[in-house]
Amino acid sequence: MGKKVTVLGEVRDGALRNVSFEGVAAARKIAEDGEVVAVLLGSAVKDLAQEMIVAGADRAVVVEDEKLAGYTSDGYAQALLAVVEQENPEAILFGHTALGKDLSPKIASKLGCGLVSDAVNVEVEGGNVVFTRPIYSGKAFEKKIVTDGVIFATIRPNNIPPLEKDASRTGEVSEVSAEIKDLRTIVREVAKKATQGVDLSEAKVIVAGGRGVKSEEGFEPLQELANLLGGAVGASRGACDAEYCDYSLQIGQTGKVVTPDLYIACGISGAIQHLAGMSNSKVIVAINKDPEANIFKVADYGIVGDLFEVVPLLVEEFKSLLV
Ligand code: FAD
Repeated sequence: MGKKVTVLGEVRDGALRNVSFEGVAAARKIAEDGEVVAVLLGSAVKDLAQEMIVAGADRAVVVEDEKLAGYTSDGYAQALLAVVEQENPEAILFGHTALGKDLSPKIASKLGCGLVSDAVNVEVEGGNVVFTRPIYSGKAFEKKIVTDGVIFATIRPNNIPPLEKDASRTGEVSEVSAEIKDLRTIVREVAKKATQGVDLSEAKVIVAGGRGVKSEEGFEPLQELANLLGGAVGASRGACDAEYCDYSLQIGQTGKVVTPDLYIACGISGAIQHLAGMSNSKVIVAINKDPEANIFKVADYGIVGDLFEVVPLLVEEFKSLLV
């Protein structure tokens, strides 16, 4: 018999993040012939509910409240718990994002349940829901089965492909009223960093720079290549520590974990802590002037050379291909 699975949609700047649709795809696998219920929390999110249904949810439940305009653990936990109480799902999915990582353990512990975090795949095998997640900084994968209680999981972005959107899908959109009270945190203002273009954690192409980029200006050709490929710029901690770029670009064990279709590492040596954040990228290209650099061990394509010569050549080549 199928399961009832809820999946939290994540809204940023008035739009659903792609990880929400990936969550719906994961939920569909778990639900089998059961029901997928999308959950949206915020101050003006009801209009987005239909998008979750088009992406594969059967219906959507919305909690709208001015106090949910900005994310707070307290506010979102109260709203989501009200939904869980009403819906009684057998599984609850979140994106493995800053929001999902903060909220999911809070709800799971309130219900006395465990949590499978950072799942890169889910399958139903012999009646069990089996999650796959990376361990040892991505060197190995383990399979997890939840044997008791509600199944909680966070899904790593860019791993489970969203279902094809079907505009003809319809489903009920209902509201749940939740009393949001005693907030210990109030968001007064969100001061955003000026970032260019695509969100790093959801980018399909990443051009990353390391200490070999040598300066802030050294990132300019990388940015040009990223713009050309519709991607984002990332960095090693070496580059961030050297103040060539902002820490929000850091990829690795203590930075962002990314899984793009294409990762171009420029002037990055390939320390284990960096590999932890990018080694599951689908295709890795490394550009390094040291033929012994560790990054070549994980690269699908290696270019031994000076990045300041190679990256402009790639830019020229892609420009000629894209016209
Ligand atoms: P380097 O190791 O200095 O490598 C620079 C590379 O650039 C060299 O391979 C060199 O051959 C090449 N190069 C130089 N000039 C050129 C050129 N002109 N053209 C082509 N190639 C050139 N690191 C992370 O990245 N992410 C993390 O999340 C992270 N977390 C950490 C957590 C802990 C607890 C610790 C201890 C370390 C962590 N680190 C992390 C740091 C990590 O160990 C490395 O120090 C760091 O990744 C090195 O950055 P890098 O490869 O840019 O620099």
